[in-house]
Formats: sequence, structure tokens, C-alpha cells
Amino acid sequence: MKRLFLSVRNLKGVGRKRFEIYQKLGIETPYDLLYYLPRDYRDYREPVPVAETQTDVPAVIRVTITAKKRPIRTRTGMMMYMLDAEDDEGTPVSIRIFNNMYSYQALETGRTYTMFGKIAGSPNAREIHAPAVHREADNPIEAIYPQTTGLTSAMLRTNVRDALALMDEAPFETLSPELRSRYGLIPLAKAMHGIHEPQDMEEAEEARHRLAFEEMLRLQLGLRILGRKAARKSDYPMQENTDLQPYYDSLPFPLTSAQKRAVGEIMQDMASGEPMNRLLQGDVGSGKTAVAAAACYAAVQNGCQCTLMAPTEILAGQHYQTLRSFLEPLGITVVLLTGSVKGKEKKTVYAQIASGKAQVIVGTHAVFQKAVEYRRLALVITDEQHRFGVAQRAALAEKGGVPHKLVMSATPIPRTLALLVYGDLDVSVLDVMPSGRKPIKTYAVTGGGRPRVMKFVAEELQKGRQGYIVCPAIEEGELDLKNVTQYAEDMRRGLLSGWRIDILHGQMDPQEKDDAMERFRNQETDVLICTTVVEVGVDVPNATVMVIEDADRFGLSQLHQLRGRVGRGQHQSYCILLTEHLTEESRERLRLLSSTTNGFEVAEADLKLRGPGDFFGNMQHGLPPLKLASLTDAQMLHDVQEAAALLTQEDPELQKPENHALYMEILRLFAQYGENGLN
Ligand code: ADP
Ligand code: MG
Repeated sequence: MKRLFLSVRNLKGVGRKRFEIYQKLGIETPYDLLYYLPRDYRDYREPVPVAETQTDVPAVIRVTITAKKRPIRTRTGMMMYMLDAEDDEGTPVSIRIFNNMYSYQALETGRTYTMFGKIAGSPNAREIHAPAVHREADNPIEAIYPQTTGLTSAMLRTNVRDALALMDEAPFETLSPELRSRYGLIPLAKAMHGIHEPQDMEEAEEARHRLAFEEMLRLQLGLRILGRKAARKSDYPMQENTDLQPYYDSLPFPLTSAQKRAVGEIMQDMASGEPMNRLLQGDVGSGKTAVAAAACYAAVQNGCQCTLMAPTEILAGQHYQTLRSFLEPLGITVVLLTGSVKGKEKKTVYAQIASGKAQVIVGTHAVFQKAVEYRRLALVITDEQHRFGVAQRAALAEKGGVPHKLVMSATPIPRTLALLVYGDLDVSVLDVMPSGRKPIKTYAVTGGGRPRVMKFVAEELQKGRQGYIVCPAIEEGELDLKNVTQYAEDMRRGLLSGWRIDILHGQMDPQEKDDAMERFRNQETDVLICTTVVEVGVDVPNATVMVIEDADRFGLSQLHQLRGRVGRGQHQSYCILLTEHLTEESRERLRLLSSTTNGFEVAEADLKLRGPGDFFGNMQHGLPPLKLASLTDAQMLHDVQEAAALLTQEDPELQKPENHALYMEILRLFAQYGENGLN
């Protein structure tokens, strides 16, 4: 076995303590250590004259020691070591070292050193504090590593240097020469030298590019290969010519062209003989539920059962209502199964599922509980859930057979990201809104305008419409409740007195939430004051106005999702964003939101404003984190996409010798993040 892959403990200077730190960082071998990447570099190549340094700004200077002063004990008991020095222009500078006798002793009078440190003192009496001294033997550009207690960048540099030597002894490569030359990528060994010990910054960049490319490629290939490998043959092939006409006839509206296309794609998938693995993506209000119901109808006609799983009880309840109204007239039995279905009722539902009497099962995660036994579960639909975790997949597998899967999402992921996140899924897009929809009018108003806003809300209510007021959710239990209830109290007594006001927030128990939702849907209440609980999927077409308090606190995409709760019927709808103070930045954000109702445009803007980290922050994408690759590098994403396609075309399971190392890396990557890594 190559020493590169033996224990990191074998490296010089790695004792028990450092070994433990490395283990905590997930570094077991010298090879792992090479993937512990610098966060920055310190360039010692061009020291600045002391005369040109600025107070409080760190600088690299090159000076000769002229005198070592006697150490002083400060009033706080610290030892201060001072040395006099001057640069080659003769400008003096005083070096100050605190408590570190070793650093002081290492500096010799008459010798010249290059050092980096914070500059202090006045322009005529310069000081440099606690400088890092560059060792002549070291690379002139020093790598700075992420900070870890007990592990300095200097220690890392020494160990990395030895690891690099091991890499040179027996070069290890993950990308074939063809692939590298096609995309202009340098060899791995060269990249490792370049990232840890660059001779200039171009070299570091070239290295970063190669490593980022591979990082993204691993992810992409992993999704393609491992994701698809699970099953290639469906246990529930369906009739391609299943007659859907009765379903269409029973709908209160004709499907849009986009909905029809999506239904067609789903039917093809389920009849193909392979399990379906499809994402149904459509902006809020685009009508995903009617498409899902069509898939359910088809499955039932083929003698199968299906589940529709939603992330919250409110949503599950609403889907239950909708699916019942679409499917029960056609003689299909729809049941609801959530955590709050208990006791005798639960027993009955379980029995109906086991006997096959229940054909469509709508619910929360409860539908996958161990105790639930299906008769013939062939189709699993999830709403607003980005992907299945391994745990859920396992739970599903225990239900017998490999079902078809349909994932519905309103998160308008920019195209570049979708390739990455959903590389393993087929995608249907609902890009046409049901006809008769009017774009929501969006306005930003500062706090002072609240009375005016509420007057406007009241006018809508007067017309028989309903409205939402969203308050920011406060995480800590009690506070949330107080926030919304207090706000509702104020409104009842003040600006919205006389109207029927209800509340909805995360601390209410499921039954209370359902009741509040139900009252609102039945138009027994006029205004629903709520937290972001209403964010996903809630559908009350008569609601035409939404006021969002403290709109500043939400991301653009989230605001867009919230806004999607209105504008679902034929009436003109409004969204009013209230903020206490309008900064230039928030003005810009809100302007953007007012100017478009296209979720994809909002998401693109969100990505630009906040970066991919934040963008992904609120999403359960379940992917391993990217250390190097930037999700905004469209060219690289494109190349990686193409490379992955080429590779899997030539070597579908990556079993050829030249791809073996890459395959092992992919397994390693997904083993680490396996818990929710794959579909
Ligand atoms: P989402 O894609 O956000 O989940 P829904 O499925 O909740 O959207 O649909 C939003 C609203 O549009 C619902 O009231 C639904 O009944 C209605 N709807 C769906 N499809 C159509 C259509 N083709 N024509 C008219 N209304 C439709
Ligand atoms: Mg929905």
C-alpha cells in the first residue's frame, strides 16, 4: 500500500495529540491531509518599505535586527520582548513580541528577516506586533489554513510538505488523461502542489480550478450512478394507454397545456418498465396538485395504491381535501394519515391500507411508519420535499417493491443549480399559469404607512375578499405565540376592528391549526394573522391581499413563496411588504420583487445577492457541501455536466481501470453524506 494512504500518524511531527486533532478533522491519511485546503495565502515575495506601512494594517516587511532589548514585565503580568530593526532604506521599526520567548530568541542581531504582522505606532516610530517570521526554506507564498486550536498553519505546512513528497513518490490520479486534456485540467499531483505551495497566484488558481472541477464532477457522477443504480426494473409497470378521460371530465377546469404535458411525461415514465424518478417543478399556483391527482388516478386504474406526502399537517389536510374532491366522485377511496390520527381511527385507516381498500393515502411522514402495511404501493409523491433521504428510501423499500417517485417543488431553482441538485431526476416544468390569473401587484411600504395599508386591506375585505398578515416567526416557543396573538389583539382593537381575525402559528397543535385553516377556507374569518406556517402550498383562492411585516427579514425567494398564497383566483391580488427602515439594499431587493412575479427570476436575483451558500441554506437539498466549486460558475457547471454525460456514456458504472480511482472517491463522498445524500 502506498504510504500516501497509510496513517497520517506516520508523518514526522505527528504525535498522539496532533493525530487526535487530525482525526477530529476527518484526516486519517496523508492523502486526506492534502484535501485540507488553505483558506488564504500570505505572500512574502514583495515586502513593503517600512515608511510606506499604515497603522493597523498588516504588512510584510523585510528588516535587519539591530538590537535586542531586555524583556519587560507589563502591568498585566505579560512579558513583552522588544527588538530594534531597520529596513534596507534605513527606516527604523520596533518589533514587539508578547509572551513568546521562543520567537524572541529565534531572532538574531545582524540578521535579516521577512516578517508579517500588524503595524502600530506613529508614522515616525513604527512598530510591528507579534510578527510571523518567514523561514527562508519555506515557500515564498505561505498557505494559511482554517483555524483549529492546537494546530497552527506552520504545523500544517510541514506535514503537508511531507504528504506532497509521498504523492510525488507514487503519483495518484483520479481523472483520465483524455478528460484532463479535453477540459484543460492539470494532473492531481500538480494541483496539490499548486494549491498548497504555489509559486505564484496563477498557479494557485489553476490548481483551484482543477480541484473544483473534480469536486463538482464527483457530485454529479455520484448522483447519476449511485442514484440510478438502485433499481432499473419497475415492480409496477403500468398501461401506457390508461384512460384518463373520466378524471379530466370530473375536474372543475381544463388542464393547462403544461399540466397536460407533465401528465403525459408521468404516464410514459410509469409505463416504461423502469421506476419513475421525476421532479415536477412549477411556480406557486401553477397547479401541481391536479397533475399529482392525475398520476394517482392512473395508478389506481392499474390496481395500485399511491401516497402523497406533505411536510406539514396543514398541507396534508389541504391535499386530502383536494384529492378527495377530485377523486371520490370517481369511486376512489382517499384517506388521511398524519401524526394526529390516533386510536381507533388510526386502526381503521391502517386496516384499509393493508386491505387495499384505501387507494390514495395522503399524509405526513406518518405514511412511512413501520406499522403501516401497504397492499400494493406503486407511486409515492412528495410535495415540497427536495429529495428522499436514505432512511426514507429504506423505509419505503420495506413496504415492498420499488415504487415510482414524483417529487413536487415550487422552489424555483435557477437552471444552473437545478442541473446539479436534480442531475439524477427527470424534470417536468409547469411553465404556464392557469388562465385568468392576474399577476400579483407588489408594493413596498415603510412602517409609517401601516394605517394606510390596513385601510386598503379593509377595502378588500369590504368587497368580500380575505387577507393574510404575516409576522416574522420567532423561534423560542412562547414568544412566537405572544407575537402573533399580541399583534392580532392590536389589530382587533385598532386598525382592523370589526373584522373577524384569526391566528395561525407554529406553536398551535395540529388540530387547532387545521381548525383555523378550515375557518379561513370556509370564509368564517376575514383575516388570518400568521407566521410563515402558511408559506408552502396553502390554497385559498378568495384571499387577495397579503401584508408581510418586517419583510426585510425574509429572503427574496421566501417572500416570493409567501406571496404565492394570494393571486390564486380570478380577482386581482396584492402583496404589501412592510419594513421599518428602507436601506438602499433592501430597497433594491423589494424593487426587484415588485418588478417580477416570475419565481425563476427572483431565484436568480437571490442567488446573486446572497450567494449559493445562503440560497442552499434554507433548502433541504441533502447534498454534500462544496468546498471549492462555485455554483455561480456557469461555464464550469456546463463543462462538468458534459464531462459526466460523456463518462457515463462510455463507462456507465465507472468500472474501467482509468476511472476506478474516481469511482472510489465518489463512494467515499457519498458514504460520508449518505444519510440524506441520495434519491
Ligand atoms: P401549486 O402548484 O402551487 O401547488 P395548486 O395545485 O395548489 O398549485 O393550484 C393552485 C390553484 O389553481 C388551485 O386552486 C387549483 O384548483 C387551481 N388550478 C389548478 N389547475 C388549474 C387549471 N388548469 N385551471 C384553473 N385553475 C387551476
Ligand atoms: Mg402545492
